[in-house]
Amino acid sequence: MLRAIDGFHQDERGDWVAELRCGHGQHVRHHPPFFSRPWVVTEEGRASRLGSDLPCVLCERFELPSGFEAYKRTPDFTAASIPDGLKRHHSTKPGVWAVINVLEGRLRYVVEPPLVHEEVIEAGGRAVVVAEVLHHVEPEGEVRFFVEFYRCATAR
Ligand SMILES: [Zn+2]
Repeated sequence: MLRAIDGFHQDERGDWVAELRCGHGQHVRHHPPFFSRPWVVTEEGRASRLGSDLPCVLCERFELPSGFEAYKRTPDFTAASIPDGLKRHHSTKPGVWAVINVLEGRLRYVVEPPLVHEEVIEAGGRAVVVAEVLHHVEPEGEVRFFVEFYRCATAR
């Protein structure tokens, strides 16, 4: 799925990495003739790409960005106490990821386009919620679960 470029940094080898709004990094190398991105080696060139989109494969793999830490968790919810908001399409804020942890029972987790995914999370299982992607959950009978929210550990 497409993610906006928020910034750039260089890795330990001096290659440029685009910092995407989802929290993932993506190499944007200029190594002609294999990778031709002359814009990336100048400050003006990089600035001109801020806000433009790159496809992020790591989001499509539901991969929590590295350097992200849990900062908040919900109470345990049951089929009776699950907030209506979680049963309707909703999404996290930019830069916020979540992990659904099912303690007992089963919970159906449905993800909307651009990521399409559906699974039943079993007791002891967890599933990743990708930042800003619409989804909802449905109890499959009795269930007990909670949600942990993650953000970049170095963000203010
Ligand atoms: Zn991503």
